[in-house]
Amino acid sequence: MKYWRKYHPTISADDPRYHQVSLIYSVLLIMLIYFGLIGLLNITLFDAADIAVYDFSGFALAAAIYFYVSRGGNFKVAGWIVTLTLVFVLLAFIHLAEGRNYSLLWVTILPPIAFFLLGPTAGTWVTGLVFAYCGWFLYKLLGQGIPGNLSLGAFFNFAEVATAQIFLFRYYERSRREAYEQLQKTSVTDPLTGIFNRLHLDNTLKTLLAVSKRDAQPTSVLLLDVDHFKRINDEYGHIAGDKVLVAIARIMTEATRDGDLVGRWGGEEFLIICPKTDATQAAHIADRVVEKLNSQTLLDDINATVSIGIATASGSNESDTAETLLQTADKNLYQAKADGRNTVVANWDASI
Ligand code: GH3
Ligand code: MG
Ligand code: MG
Repeated sequence: MKYWRKYHPTISADDPRYHQVSLIYSVLLIMLIYFGLIGLLNITLFDAADIAVYDFSGFALAAAIYFYVSRGGNFKVAGWIVTLTLVFVLLAFIHLAEGRNYSLLWVTILPPIAFFLLGPTAGTWVTGLVFAYCGWFLYKLLGQGIPGNLSLGAFFNFAEVATAQIFLFRYYERSRREAYEQLQKTSVTDPLTGIFNRLHLDNTLKTLLAVSKRDAQPTSVLLLDVDHFKRINDEYGHIAGDKVLVAIARIMTEATRDGDLVGRWGGEEFLIICPKTDATQAAHIADRVVEKLNSQTLLDDINATVSIGIATASGSNESDTAETLLQTADKNLYQAKADGRNTVVANWDASI
C-alpha cells in the first residue's frame, strides 16, 4: 500500500487518478531530497551560498505543494503546480549551467510528467513551449565560444529529438487514456446484458454504505430472481433465454431512476442498488419493475416475471454491512418465491 493513501483514503487502485497522485508525490519527494541534499552540499562542500539559496527555495516550494496536496488540495491544480515547478527548476538549472555539460538533457524528463499529469492537449502546449524556449536559448549561445557548449549540429539534434518526443508522448498518452477507459468499462460491465457486473456492485455497495452512514441517509437494495427461468431455457433454448435476460436488464434500467445502479448478480439474478432511498421508495421501484414485466412480452411471445426481495440500511445503524443487507434481501426474495412468485417482499419476519 502506498504511504500517501492515508491522506486520500477514497482514491483506490482502480481510480483513474491513482497513478497520477502517485506520480505527484514521487516528484515532490524527489524534489525535497534533491534540493535538500544539493543545498547542503553547496553550503558545506562547495561554498556556494548563492546557489544554495536557490536550492532551499525549491525545497520550501516543494514542501508547500506537498502540504497543499496532502491536505486534500485539488489534484488537477496540484498536477499543474508540480509540472510548472518542474519547468521552473529545469529552466533555472539550464540557465545556471549556460547549456554546458549536457545540462539540456534534463528537459527530456518533462514530457512524460507533463503529458501524464496534464493530458495530451495541455501536455503538448507546456512541453512545446519549454522546448521552443530551450531551442531559442541554445541558439543564442551558439558561436559565443563558451567552453563545453553545444555546436550547430547538436542544436539540430536537440530540435529533432524535442519534436519527436512531443509527438511520441502525445500519441502514447492518448492511447494510454483510451486503453484505460476501455479497461475501466469492461471491468465493471456484464458482457451479456451490458449492465454492471457483480464485482462493481460489490465495490459500490460497500462505498455507498459508508457514505450512507456518514450522511445518515438510507440505502436500499433490490435482489431480483427470474421466476421459473429454467422453463424458458427448456422450452425455447438457451439463446432465447439469453435474449430474455438482456430484455429484462433493459426493462429494469427503464424502471429505475438516474443514480440507481442496475447490475447482474449472477445467472438469472439481478441486484439494484438505490442510494438515498428508504424502504417505501424502494418498494415503489420494485413494483414498477414487476408491473412493466407483467405488461409486455420480452421476445416474440415469451413472458417472464421476477420475484424481488428488498433490504434497507437506515444510515443510522452501525451494524449494517453489505453482507447483512444482502442476507436480508436474499431472505425476502426467498419469501417472495414462497408467496407464489411475481411479487415483492420488503420486510422479512423470522416468525413466518
Ligand atoms: P425459480 O423461480 O425458483 O427461480 O426457478 P428457476 O427455474 O428460475 O430457478 P433455477 O435456479 O432452477 O434455474 C435457473 C436457471 O437459469 C438455470 C440456468 O440454466 C439458467 N441460467 C443461468 N444463467 C444463465 C444464462 O446466462 N443464460 C441462460 N440462457 N440461462 C441461464
Ligand atoms: Mg436463481
Ligand atoms: Mg429463478
